[in-house]
Amino acid sequence: MTEIDKITVSRMQFYGYHGALPEENKLGQRFFVDVDLSVDLYRAATSDQLDQTINYAEVYRLAQKIVEGPSCVLIETVAERIAESLLSAFQIAESCRVKVVKPDPPIAGHYDSVSIEIIRKRSIAYLGLGSNMGDRAGFLQQALRELDNTKNVSVTRCSSIYETDPYGPVRQNDFLNMAVQIETLLPPAALLEATQRIEADLQRTREIHWGPRTIDLDILVYNQDNINVEKLSIPHPEIARRAFVLKPLLEIAPHLVVPGINRPVTELWQNLNEEEGVRLWKRNDGAGEFGLFEN
Ligand code: ADP
Ligand code: MG
Repeated sequence: MTEIDKITVSRMQFYGYHGALPEENKLGQRFFVDVDLSVDLYRAATSDQLDQTINYAEVYRLAQKIVEGPSCVLIETVAERIAESLLSAFQIAESCRVKVVKPDPPIAGHYDSVSIEIIRKRSIAYLGLGSNMGDRAGFLQQALRELDNTKNVSVTRCSSIYETDPYGPVRQNDFLNMAVQIETLLPPAALLEATQRIEADLQRTREIHWGPRTIDLDILVYNQDNINVEKLSIPHPEIARRAFVLKPLLEIAPHLVVPGINRPVTELWQNLNEEEGVRLWKRNDGAGEFGLFEN
């Protein structure tokens, strides 16, 4: 992990009703919470302004609201909710570590305490969208709206829309393609679930099973991670070969280095000799993106 400044609030003490045992929910117990927030403090330090940093009192209040709020079975869940709440509230925080301690759980035996600790960070990901059925732009628009409305996901940049000759052996209509940058607190597998839920929502109207689709959402890049599990390959394995992916990505992230390949998007684009087949269809002029650049 890179070295960065941090703000720590340690040993916050609360009384709550979390736990898997009935007496924990009924009688309650003490909880201690430690929080570290990674944040660049240079501006706060040199300006001496409170509004350039994270207010400890706010951190306390947010943690308190969760620990003293509705009871959870697991302190893992309590910690997750605290991390989510802090990273949503403090945009300048890059990541946070949350430790939740039960100093006196109702379990027989001799020990000091039980605790769990999690680290959560804000991630940047790039997604490719495609549609070649029905109201193609309408499907892109709906998908973007749903994506941005997904909890812990915000769409931070959108490319223009490109029209692309269909790819592969199946005869079908031309595609509309675009790429977006998102900021998210979701780990990759949860992000895939979210994109697949959106695909399912929008493909309800789909009539032909193996035919063209209303929307395809692919995760192109997630931070600088290389992921290769059964259901998920990131960076997307085809990224360097597909003009309809690279062209929109080039527009929003020319200098993005694609991990694994370790080359920036500009260079991948230059190496690809198939510019034909991808045409600008509607330019993103920066006006209201989810209205999809209304004329
Ligand atoms: P394609 O996008 O290749 O046309 P699908 O959208 O039908 O095909 O994708 C099928 C499967 O690809 C999904 O079930 C998903 O698990 C898997 N997959 C692997 N890596 C990724 C990724 N980076 N983004 C999206 N889906 C992925
Ligand atoms: Mg896909």
